Amino acid sequence: MSNADQKGFYQRTDITGEPYEPMQAPRFTEVATFMRTPLVESLDGVDIGIIGIPYDGGLTCRTGARYGPREVRNESTLMRAINVATGEQPYDRARVADLGDVRFNDLFNLDQAINDIERYFVAIAKTGVRPLAVGGDHSVTYPILKALAPRYDQPLGLVHIDAHTDTWPAVFGSKFHHGAPFRLATEEGLIDPRRTVQIGIRGGQNFADGLDYSRDNGMRVITIEEFDDLGWQAVAREAKRVVGNGPAYLTFDVDGLDPVYTPGTGTPEAGGITMREAQRLIRELTDLDFIGGDIVEVSPPLDPSGNTALNAATILFEMLCILAIRVSDCRSG
Ligand code: MN
Ligand code: MN
Repeated sequence: MSNADQKGFYQRTDITGEPYEPMQAPRFTEVATFMRTPLVESLDGVDIGIIGIPYDGGLTCRTGARYGPREVRNESTLMRAINVATGEQPYDRARVADLGDVRFNDLFNLDQAINDIERYFVAIAKTGVRPLAVGGDHSVTYPILKALAPRYDQPLGLVHIDAHTDTWPAVFGSKFHHGAPFRLATEEGLIDPRRTVQIGIRGGQNFADGLDYSRDNGMRVITIEEFDDLGWQAVAREAKRVVGNGPAYLTFDVDGLDPVYTPGTGTPEAGGITMREAQRLIRELTDLDFIGGDIVEVSPPLDPSGNTALNAATILFEMLCILAIRVSDCRSG
């Protein structure tokens, strides 16, 4: 793809017939899309698709994550076209689009909602577009993995940043909830627990149930205490060692961050990762073969300042930068 094609992808024409680039327009203008990327109706020519999943039927506690995609879109208009810290310019490397939201045919039916999400991600995976999803609660990652994993000849590796292991059994009569996606994904062979690293772990009801499941199945659990002792650089090295060379997925629950950064979330746990640590950690993960990722658990009704959505958008931009590097590395062979 030539540079000119790349530029054309981000250009728009307004109703007077004037061409312009929304990403260069003042940040308070335009209909909010993820990172001010074009909202598309087709996957043609897209390298990375950012998609909203406005679903929070899997929450066990404080609700509101269904509004996450809207507010992350809004706050993401503050992101720039360049990563000032690394010099990365993701839009020069890849064609990035807003794919809109997953639509739900039966919103009140948890089992059906999972099928709706899977259907969208099967369509995305078929075209080779790398998805970056914005939740929604963490239950949405299970149907994403269900759609993506079968495309590869081995289970996916997983970098999972969270206060919780999300490997709990069924609660309140359902196995589909935001505390279970990585137990379901392990049971179904979608992820390889020995290529899974869980970072920032510190909370959860009946803590041992999830923690024991993760450890007994060979996941590398880095508690927040160990994170604190090792530091972000050593944690990044450990994540790369555990996940290795195969295809991998990056999932970021904003409650992995300290609630001073992301108070607007379903199950906040004090004493978490700082924004700076999270940003630097993600920037170190460029060697991993990420096929997609997500950021979940932003609950705007619990986030009156908008800071949770701003920090989520900032993490999403860091994820976009490393995914764009993967896209251009794969293109150049
Ligand atoms: Mn969590
Ligand atoms: Mn989670």
